[in-house]
Amino acid sequence: MNSHCQNQGSSFLRKKEGNIVREESDQIATASARVKDTRRLALLSVCLPVLVLYLLNKCKNEDGSKMLSFFTLWDLNSFFILIGFVLFQMMLYLLPIGKVVKGKRTTTGEQDHYHINGFYAILITIVVLGSLWFFGLADVTIGHDKCLQIAFSGISVSVFLSIVWFLKSFTVTKEQLKNYGEKGNFIQDFCMGRELNPKFGKLNIKFFSMLRIGFIGWALFNLSILAEDIEQNGRASLALGLVVGFQLLYILEALYDEESVVFTKEITSDMFGYIMTFGEIVWIPFTSSLQAIYLLHHPQELTYLQVAIIVLIYAVGFFIYNRSNDQKNKFRSHPQDVAFAGLETIDTNTGTKLLVSEWWGWLRHPNYLGDIVVHLAWSLPCGFSHIIPYLQLLFCIHILTKRTIEIEEDCHRRYGAAWEEYCRRVKYRMLPYIY
Ligand code: NDP
Repeated sequence: MNSHCQNQGSSFLRKKEGNIVREESDQIATASARVKDTRRLALLSVCLPVLVLYLLNKCKNEDGSKMLSFFTLWDLNSFFILIGFVLFQMMLYLLPIGKVVKGKRTTTGEQDHYHINGFYAILITIVVLGSLWFFGLADVTIGHDKCLQIAFSGISVSVFLSIVWFLKSFTVTKEQLKNYGEKGNFIQDFCMGRELNPKFGKLNIKFFSMLRIGFIGWALFNLSILAEDIEQNGRASLALGLVVGFQLLYILEALYDEESVVFTKEITSDMFGYIMTFGEIVWIPFTSSLQAIYLLHHPQELTYLQVAIIVLIYAVGFFIYNRSNDQKNKFRSHPQDVAFAGLETIDTNTGTKLLVSEWWGWLRHPNYLGDIVVHLAWSLPCGFSHIIPYLQLLFCIHILTKRTIEIEEDCHRRYGAAWEEYCRRVKYRMLPYIY
């Protein structure tokens, strides 16, 4: 009896020790992963702005050898152009046109409202700037001429605003931050943000920045490059016209379908910090315009056959991207619609269903495949003599590949067996028989 108790006691102690050792090693692993993450974030925060300036300089100046310094990059006019653009977009966002939609309820029970009028905002902006340019009242090519200075102002403004978001996050209740994964580490909190959806009055800053600053800024920068081409050569080159046209269609489609952004991971679960602020103000507009700026300074001749092939690739990519997104978004908002009556679905334990037919029965992320093909199509007019026009495509492949894993982990956590069943039935993520 005694030895039995002793055996039980010592096995209990061994188990307990084992658990403690496991917990300690888990803690060490988590801490070292956090240190690595923190180092990576610190490095990215410095390297990404430098990379944007380097790439713009390289595209604009034939040999990329123009020395950049604070004195060549800082320009008050460029700073005011950027601020004027942001304020104008804010004014359009607050205009009582468009509609207001309710977002997902967060874990703390809040449900934000979003003003959907981005499509009107881009049309108004293009019409206003286009008219001013047409009548000689504004020099829209300044966007191209001063792109390095505007990007530099964007970097400075991103740092400043991120400090504001960081400080502002201490004014909201602990309850509001509780579920948002506060890291308690300055670099992580500053870069990844502490608040999910910071607001100033009616302005939901993250939602506003995502398409209004990033995407409209990208469109304007592209149009400014096109205007520069027209002013320099009397007409736009075919290759540049193709790139600007393809990208404008993509941007207009995103703004037309702005409502679907409300339900993306960025809005529902990612905090708003420096990385996202910099991403919207600088990274998206300037790295996405690299093809256009490259073509302005390195013109390419395209044959009609090449144009036909590129247009076909774009059309196929855009069709996959647009139709698959549309099918899922409509299925999510109106699952009972007759259009879905004949489609196969899987029931999940949360009450929602997963589509296993058509686009979503072909691949688990058909929209990502379409997105990548579209990115390829607007890089091809630049030819193959430089890697720069293909960098955005490589970033896109990297981001979307990582995202398939994040989204799938999240779906697995939420839907469990139903998600496993979905993966069994739809074997490939983005590329049939390959990935
Ligand atoms: P998705 O639009 O693909 O949304 C993923 C969500 O869709 C899942 O979390 C799940 O949410 C739902 N879902 C997944 N499978 C099914 C199914 N079979 N049936 C029904 N619902 C399903 O992803 P994102 O939000 O990441 O992307 C939105 C768009 O933005 C994409 O077109 C993408 O290409 C683009 N994008 C582009 C980037 C770029 O760098 N170019 C970067 C990021 C996004 P739930 O079940 O909760 O509804």
